Formats: sequence, C-alpha cells, structure tokens
Amino acid sequence: MTPAPISPARAPEPTPVPDPVTDPVTDPVTDTMRAIIKPAPAPGLSLINDRPRPADPGPGQALVRVRRAGVCGTDLGIDAWKPFFAARMKPPVVVGHEFAGVVEAVGPGVPDHVTVGRRVSGEGHIITGRDHASLAGMAHTARMMEIIGIDRDGCFAEFILMPAGNLWMLPDVVSDDHAAIMDAFGNAVHTVMEANVSRKSVLVTGVGPIGLMSVQAARMAGASKIFVVDRDKNRLNLAIELGADEAFDTSVDDDWVQRVIKATKNEGAQALLEMSGAEPLINGGFTALARGGRAALLGVPGSDYPFDWNNHVIFKGATVLGINGRRMFETWLQMDDFFEQAPRMLEPIVTHVLPMDEFQSGIDMMRTGEAVKAVLKIS
Ligand code: ZN
Repeated sequence: MTPAPISPARAPEPTPVPDPVTDPVTDPVTDTMRAIIKPAPAPGLSLINDRPRPADPGPGQALVRVRRAGVCGTDLGIDAWKPFFAARMKPPVVVGHEFAGVVEAVGPGVPDHVTVGRRVSGEGHIITGRDHASLAGMAHTARMMEIIGIDRDGCFAEFILMPAGNLWMLPDVVSDDHAAIMDAFGNAVHTVMEANVSRKSVLVTGVGPIGLMSVQAARMAGASKIFVVDRDKNRLNLAIELGADEAFDTSVDDDWVQRVIKATKNEGAQALLEMSGAEPLINGGFTALARGGRAALLGVPGSDYPFDWNNHVIFKGATVLGINGRRMFETWLQMDDFFEQAPRMLEPIVTHVLPMDEFQSGIDMMRTGEAVKAVLKIS
C-alpha cells in the first residue's frame, strides 16, 4: 500500500495587536477550546471553537493537552447515529476515545509518575464504582463504567480531563501518530493474548484495522500459521504483507471454510480471532475451528442470527471468549513490549494523518476503506 501524503500543518492564525486603551488585559489562556462534538441527537458531527475547556483537575485527575487522536469505527457509528449510540449518548458531547498527548496540569493526590509534561495515552474505560468484575481483575467489563467520547467528553478536543490512574506513560520509541491508536491496538493485543496463539494455527475473520493489527500481534506472539478472511482485496494483500500466510477473499471464494480446514491437515484452525461481527464469517469461522479450539470474539454483530451451538461449540469442546476493551493494565504492558520489539509496527496501519478540520474526510475515507486508520492532529 502506498503511504498516504501527510497534510501540511495549519498556517498559524495571525495574532491581533492589542490596543492598550480599548482592549482589556486578558489571560492568554482562553477558557474555550476547539472540539469535535456530537451537537444533537441526529446524524453528523461538528467542529466548534467555543467548547468550554475542562475544569482544573481535581483530586486524582490530570488535564491532558491532546496532540493526536485516532478515528475509530465507533466514531463512524456515532457520526451516522446508529441505534446503539442513539440509545446511549446524551449530546452535546465531545467525541473521540483514542489519543496521545501531554500532561498539562495535575490535581492533588495523583500518582508520582503522572507529572506535567509527560507524554501519555490513556485507557478510555473509566471505572465509576466498585463492582465484582473490577475487584476480580475484570475491570474492562465493569458494570459501573463510562467510556470517553460516548458517555462523557472525549479526546477530539484540545484538552481532556482524565483520572490520572487511566493515563499510560508512553515509551519514547513510539511516535504520537502511532500512540494515538493504542486503544484500538489494545483491542487487537487483548484478543490475540486471550486466544493463546503461540505455536497454533490462527484464523482471523475480518481484516479491518483491528484485524490487521491482530495479524501483526499474532505473528509476533508466535502463531505458527495465520489465515485471513475478508471481502476487501486491498486489506487482504496488506494482511499478507503484515505476516498472514494465506488470504481468502469471500467476494470470489465461497469455499474458504474447506480451504482453511484442508490447509490445517483437515483439523481446522486452533484459534479463531473473530473481528467482523458478520454472520457468514462467524458461522464459517466456527466451522473452520479445530476440535478443542479457542475462539476469541471481538466483532459485534448488528443483530441476532442463527448459530449451531451443538456443532460449533458443544460437541467440538470449543472455548469461547468474549473480548471487550483492554485488560487494565496488562494489555497496556503487552503493547509496550510489542513497541519495544517493533517501534514502528503501526506505520502500515496509520495511513492518514490529517488536520483536525479535515475530520470529516478522515471519517469518510475510513468508511470507504481508502484509509485503514486516520489520525487527527489536534494540537
Ligand atoms: Zn476505538
């Protein structure tokens, strides 16, 4: 894939010369900021200049100046105002949940490692209460949880207020452009690590951005053979470049399930990473799963569908894992480890870095597949 051109930085706004007689002396720090918001319960997003800046950080909080923010499939759904988001969100709200930035200010009582000037990304799932899941090490599935950019203001804005404990100190080796998508990369790493892919044959159904990153992570985590399935030829080619062994194009191949089985000595793939949420890929993926295999499901189906529990799960002795978010913070440690080994591994994924005011074209290019992942330059 040809790397996309990176747009030039925005020209600086001319600074008006103050008139000492008529212009009052003002604090140079404005109390408003640029932000991309869902303004009303209807399709569309708006870039505004006068969103109030978040309050000063309170106890345990940190204010982050956002530098880069990743556009996600979730943001496409919010832009289109799909029923899931229409039922959950209360506009106006700043959207966006994938970011890299710098700590601008900290409140009292933040952990010692969260200091002004540190480069950070952050876990966007914010735990708001104590429940059994979080106490038992499953905080990513917590009942009392708010997600930035959905339930509370997100990161498509110059500043975001975060619980300091949710911030992740970035290793120097990873650039802001790549660190901006750690949220999505974390979904891929979480899926791969739960599926225990080491020395196993792996089938990845759906190679959108997270499917592609899961191919990279599975390869590095020691998968013996990786098969990918999708209907997008370019994405399949990219998956091969990123380490997949064999690609099946469902738009021309209706026998891919049998081909996967054949390619695995008639046993089936030992691990299934389901990234599509699409019924034919889910059912095909489970048919192609080996007996005793492990299926990790991240793709979210749009509606219910018939599923052969007997043959897909019960008689097969399959282990089925629902994957949501990232483990706090085991997945983040694992991401740092991947970056240590391959600091630029996300370069083929972040195909477009755009000025904030071109957010709509970022969304459109991700919708058409022209961009694998678009990242916005916020400041
Ligand atoms: Zn995301």
